[in-house]
Amino acid sequence: MSRPAAQNLTSLPIARPKAVNDVMAGCPVHELRSKLRRSGLRPTRQRVALGWLLFAKGDRHITAERLYEEATGSRVTISLATVYNTLHQFTLAGLLREISVDGSKTYFDTNTSKHHHFLIEETNQLVDIPDNLVRILDLPDPLEGMEVSSVDVVVRLRKKR
Ligand SMILES: [Zn+2]
Repeated sequence: MSRPAAQNLTSLPIARPKAVNDVMAGCPVHELRSKLRRSGLRPTRQRVALGWLLFAKGDRHITAERLYEEATGSRVTISLATVYNTLHQFTLAGLLREISVDGSKTYFDTNTSKHHHFLIEETNQLVDIPDNLVRILDLPDPLEGMEVSSVDVVVRLRKKR
């Protein structure tokens, strides 16, 4: 079967929302503002700027320091403290998942669904492992009066020796 020519694609009917409020639907910045509002966060200039860097490129794992570098590199005037605060606000609002590795290194994951990680030790890079590929066969009983809220597996990788 041959592919339809490009000009035919443009003439295909596109489903467009009719409501006046949705006239901006499809605009990424507008969608980001809506996403922040839906999560109970006022879409301030700095939140929108950081949200853009975080969410516009697909799923990623990023440290506060790296996001700060990206922000200043894209001429966003912001302090590292504000980057930290914003990342924690996003996490509390459920937009990010915080992953601590080694107790000192904290990554923020834009994929908030249940999954696990490979950690490539040489580059400190996290790679997602789908939840269904990890089976937890045995765990100790939780402490008295407590229940397990989640289990996060980090599988550390190094080059074969
Ligand atoms: Zn992840």
